[in-house]
Amino acid sequence: MPRLLAVDTHVHLDFEAFDPDREEVILRARENGIVGLLNVGIDLRSSEAGIRLAESHEGVWAAVGVHPHDVAEITTAHVEALGEAAKHPKVVAIGEVGLDFYRDLSPREKQREAFAWFLELARERQLPVIIHTRAAHKETLEMVRRESEKGLLRGVFHCFSGDREVAEEVLGLGFHISFCGNLTYKNSRLAEVLRFVPLERLLLETDSPFLPPEPHRGKRNEPVYLHLTARKIAEVKAVPLSEVLARTTQNAIELFGLPPSLIGEGD
Ligand SMILES: [Zn+2]
Ligand SMILES: [Zn+2]
Repeated sequence: MPRLLAVDTHVHLDFEAFDPDREEVILRARENGIVGLLNVGIDLRSSEAGIRLAESHEGVWAAVGVHPHDVAEITTAHVEALGEAAKHPKVVAIGEVGLDFYRDLSPREKQREAFAWFLELARERQLPVIIHTRAAHKETLEMVRRESEKGLLRGVFHCFSGDREVAEEVLGLGFHISFCGNLTYKNSRLAEVLRFVPLERLLLETDSPFLPPEPHRGKRNEPVYLHLTARKIAEVKAVPLSEVLARTTQNAIELFGLPPSLIGEGD
């Protein structure tokens, strides 16, 4: 049987949830064909932790950013510090950044301000941006569109929760889309949206330790479960799993500038 390779483009392996067995989780992922892991920052500390993780592990990369939940206190000095950190050779994206008007853990005005700073940073550095948006699709799209008018901006709307119309706008802006494990949940409407997202614009992610796919719902998520979401995508799009994995891995390599040798070895 051919080895099925995949890239998990959104993990939080620096989180406490992985303190007991982080090395085993990474090893387990690798042994099961996850050839790339992108650790995504939620604040300064986790962005730095992600860089350290990437430095010490082959096949691990980092994104630096501040989650909308955590922007209340940030200043342009923080953004500059992350801009400096982003020069590290294993930093391949800015994120996760965006707007979350569902939980509203930071004042909305501050979320808008911080998101604008990060979009500008991503465009100036020509790094893809990993966007978290919840209950704020219209405004997020508007801000991305405005920044895109100043120059090329690429990235992904992660853990997608919008409807078909939103998906079409995201695709129209040249962005990618990725779905979390909740795609596999009973009563999820996301499969309907997935039908309209071409494989050429899809990325795979687990968002570990959050939102594990069925049958692990309610437990800690980890990258090795990525195949369950990929399988669901294959089923919804009625294509072989191998095609979903090959295409999304290629997309991840292209968007994040990962080494093409990720898929070149073995077989
Ligand atoms: Zn998120
Ligand atoms: Zn996340």
